[in-house]
Amino acid sequence: MQYHLNGFKPGNYQIPDEVREPSAPPLLVDLPEEVDVLIVGCGPAGLTMARQLAEFTDITSCIVDQEPGPLLFGRADGISCRTMEIMEAFNSSELIVKETYQLKQNAFWEPDKEHPENIKRTHKIADARIGLSEFIHGIVNQARLHDILLEGMENSVTHLIPHYNRKLLELDVDSSLTQDLDAHPITATFERNDDAQSGKIEIVKARYVVGTDGARSAVRKGLSIPLEGDSANKAWGVMDILYVTDFPDIRVKSFIQSKEHGAVMLIPREGGYLVRMYVELDLLTQDQRAADINLTEKDIIAKMQLIMSPYTVDVKEVAWWSIYEVGQRVAERFDDRPLDNAESLIPRAFVAGDACHTHSPKGGWGLNTSLPDTFNLGWKLAAVLQGKSHPKLLQTYSTERLKVARQLIAADAQLSKLVATRPTANKDNSQAKTDTADIEKFMARQNGFIAGTAIEYNPSYICTGAENQALASGFHIGQRFHSAEAIRVADGRRQHLGHLVKADGRWRVFVFGNKLSPADASSDASRLIEFLAEDESSPVLRYTPKGTDIDSVIDVYGVFQQQDLAIEDMPDYLWPAKGKYGLRDYEKVFYAEEGNHIFEQRGVDLDSGCMVVVRPDQHIANILPLNAHKELAEFFDEFMISQNGRAESVAGELLVHQQV
Ligand SMILES: Cc1cc2nc3c(=O)[nH]c(=O)nc-3n(C[C@H](O)[C@H](O)[C@H](O)COP(=O)(O)OP(=O)(O)OC[C@H]3O[C@@H](n4cnc5c(N)ncnc54)[C@H](O)[C@@H]3O)c2cc1C
Repeated sequence: MQYHLNGFKPGNYQIPDEVREPSAPPLLVDLPEEVDVLIVGCGPAGLTMARQLAEFTDITSCIVDQEPGPLLFGRADGISCRTMEIMEAFNSSELIVKETYQLKQNAFWEPDKEHPENIKRTHKIADARIGLSEFIHGIVNQARLHDILLEGMENSVTHLIPHYNRKLLELDVDSSLTQDLDAHPITATFERNDDAQSGKIEIVKARYVVGTDGARSAVRKGLSIPLEGDSANKAWGVMDILYVTDFPDIRVKSFIQSKEHGAVMLIPREGGYLVRMYVELDLLTQDQRAADINLTEKDIIAKMQLIMSPYTVDVKEVAWWSIYEVGQRVAERFDDRPLDNAESLIPRAFVAGDACHTHSPKGGWGLNTSLPDTFNLGWKLAAVLQGKSHPKLLQTYSTERLKVARQLIAADAQLSKLVATRPTANKDNSQAKTDTADIEKFMARQNGFIAGTAIEYNPSYICTGAENQALASGFHIGQRFHSAEAIRVADGRRQHLGHLVKADGRWRVFVFGNKLSPADASSDASRLIEFLAEDESSPVLRYTPKGTDIDSVIDVYGVFQQQDLAIEDMPDYLWPAKGKYGLRDYEKVFYAEEGNHIFEQRGVDLDSGCMVVVRPDQHIANILPLNAHKELAEFFDEFMISQNGRAESVAGELLVHQQV
């Protein structure tokens, strides 16, 4: 798709440039007095949280922002492979894939040895992330990602719409109420800043609060959570421009290092004409902020021209620009529990995204770490609020995401040093660098982290089973389920199995069969299915609420080696009757395709098969042998809450459907 030919136009890229207008912000209505979850901030972290909670009719949530409406320009632009996978969980990846610039190559430019005042291309390589996911790293305006999340919220069962023009002034957490799960210990005070009712104070009481209010988070301050790390002391300029140039790699992501003037990182953007440039500016003094140095887009352009000599970039339009400083900081903790008493308390207030980690934008990690933060927290909050999981589950958010944030801060410190050609004050005063080979090595080494696909949570009761890892060596426990294709038995359709794991709060169990057909009642797969469908200790029966579909909490899929399976020979449980009419679900049984064999691609043991248990956020929670029935039950028993009376009724329903 091409757009922005005659000038940058924000809004829905499905609408032609000539008539595209940003959509009007929603009408202002009063804030609710009481909610289950209050979300402060409509960036990618807040919107992902809201998008996920919007799926649940029994949870009330409210999302608030100080701005007058949705973001239109600038900020982050890189959508990592993992973020694409998460958007697929919201059924929204296709639009993003279609609209983004797809990043396939990197080019490296250094001073020409013969004429060092000029830059010269050293080489061009394929992007190191290709093949890590079925999705590719894409570049698109952050505002577009927001739009798609907002659209999903509005179209959901709860029709959730943000409240704009409200600034959080104060947050109070009543510690005497935090361990009473029915209480509303959070009191948030907002001030309206719209023309009609400027200064009006509104108070919201909440059971939980999620602070996704960016780097200067008022929620984080309200919770007295300190930031650790260095503040910035080097300024960079960033701009999105429409241009005419003789620089040949203008449509390739390029790392450009000049001899005397600093560095440029160039990223082509969506639509075919727009490009983003990060331009190295000057050192800041100890107490100086980037905002204090009074540079404008003209200074960024002038510096860029010097660095890119002998090429010229005639800037026709600056769509957006900003000046920022580089620094790496991470919050000491991501929730309201004091460090010295963390294990015994249930958290009620959380921070996520830039509110708890800030760094330079060059690695493209800001949005791509913020959004998975709340993708991690969303399903846990929903499960606790719905009474499906023990509230201790909420403690795992801080542990899991703090690890990622610390890795991110370390990686960003390295990359920032490599991309800058000139010394960074108070940190590294070694001589100027002009070698892009180090950047290339860094990218190759960190490709899984940059893509977000190698993010791995530490062992815990929701990431366990290391002793069985060899049964499926390509599904790494703690990492996200690496999707691969299989053929659906009922209709022969090729299906990415990872795309079955939607953001609906459900657990998935993939049963990879062994050499015996599941149609054989003595096979391990058949026995496991029988256990799940009928045994009184089955987690499916124990944790599925009465009156709901059999797959509404734990959704089980069969993936088999046998290619001659017939749906009518499969156990009933694998094509269950559901919904008010008892219609059968034909989309749960698959076989491995010759030449595209999922077992071989993901190292699944052909002789023994296995179960792969996948969390609602797509991370792998456990791998078990097919006959580990008791262990599977114990895994869920650790944190799930039994739904009374369900065991008998589900077994009864299955029998009824079989007779039909
Ligand atoms: C000016 C700027 C430029 C950036 N440039 C780049 C870039 O070039 N490349 C890149 O990769 N990343 C960039 N980023 C970072 C990237 O946008 C963030 O990492 C990402 O948006 C983080 O998402 P978030 O949801 O955690 O927070 P944010 O996107 O910062 O969202 C926070 C939201 O909270 C709202 N808010 C804040 N305080 C309050 C309050 N008291 N009351 C109510 N609402 C409040 C804000 O209005 C905002 O909408 C930039 C960020 C900023 C702010």
